[in-house]
Amino acid sequence: MSRDDVRNVIIIGGGPAGYTAALYTARANMEPLVIEGFSWGGQLMITSDVENYPGYPQGVLGPEMMQQFRAQAGRFGAEFLTDDVTEVDFSGTPLRVHVGKDEYLARTVIVATGATARQLGLDSEQRLQGRGVSYCAVCDAAFFKEQTVIVAGGGDSAMEEATFLAKFASKVTIVHRREEFRASPIMVDRARTNEKIDFVLDSVVEEVLGDDGRVTGVRVCNVKTNERSVLTADGLFVAIGHDPTTAVFRGILDMDDAGYILTQGKSTYTNIPGVFAAGDVQDHVYRQAVTAAGSGCMAALDAERYLSAVDAGEADRAAAA
Ligand code: NAP
Repeated sequence: MSRDDVRNVIIIGGGPAGYTAALYTARANMEPLVIEGFSWGGQLMITSDVENYPGYPQGVLGPEMMQQFRAQAGRFGAEFLTDDVTEVDFSGTPLRVHVGKDEYLARTVIVATGATARQLGLDSEQRLQGRGVSYCAVCDAAFFKEQTVIVAGGGDSAMEEATFLAKFASKVTIVHRREEFRASPIMVDRARTNEKIDFVLDSVVEEVLGDDGRVTGVRVCNVKTNERSVLTADGLFVAIGHDPTTAVFRGILDMDDAGYILTQGKSTYTNIPGVFAAGDVQDHVYRQAVTAAGSGCMAALDAERYLSAVDAGEADRAAAA
């Protein structure tokens, strides 16, 4: 089936970046269609209290905040399609976006499909998400004042998160599956010289232990000796990397080695005219709801200005980032 009405803008992704782009483009009368994904809401759906989004002095639950973002865009006429994009064709105009057999056409596309934090893949980890299991130290460290926490991982993120957590927690234990670190030596040294941080190496978290719905510790297994032990803790920070959600854009949009979409300069322009990228899908540095929302706004403004330039026949202005 083909939908041959060409939209001004299709936004792919339903997280802070996508909904903010939807809000701005809807208020600019661009009548956005948001293909928000089957599991819309993004990483905030596995977060409990969000205390670092401005405007919520009492904090807000992540899923509730996403519902509010969505409702705000809907209030100005954004349309939502709760499904996943399966294929895109950006080889000509209009741009083509496929959802299974359905094809949607647009003059501009904003890609805001985000990234997912890698998970250990344990049932107990899933059960205790937002109840002591976290994927973001910047977001949740303050909930662990004078408590003990585990950080799983051996890359720069794990070292950085452990060092950050040590400002709040009384003790931080890094559990890493090898003896060598993927993290840069300077980051490892910083963690090693912090007296609040210790290491359990050659070990994997096998189970997250919980009582009354809160984390009480983890069971780890030494991969060399097969010895198992329990580490008591109030929280587990999983810091084993992120994966940008970019499979459908591979070979079409320029990406870095890790699969993050490359944008031009300080703009949200990608390598394809009329296609913009916002949020965690193009940002592996800041990864915050507020920065994602900010770049969603940028993408909406870029798309709106791009269309104005195209309509005015100003090809150079349209192409400029
Ligand atoms: P990463 O470099 O991919 O490291 C992931 C770590 O998690 C590795 O140590 C890996 O172990 C471990 N791991 C992966 N899957 C695991 C599993 N299932 N169970 C247990 N452990 C697992 O990811 P990252 O640390 O998030 O860093 C991503 C990129 O961002 C890197 O380029 C990094 O340099 C950069 N970064 C930079 C900074 C900074 O400079 N301030 C801060 C954060 C991130 P193995 O080593 O055994 O594979």
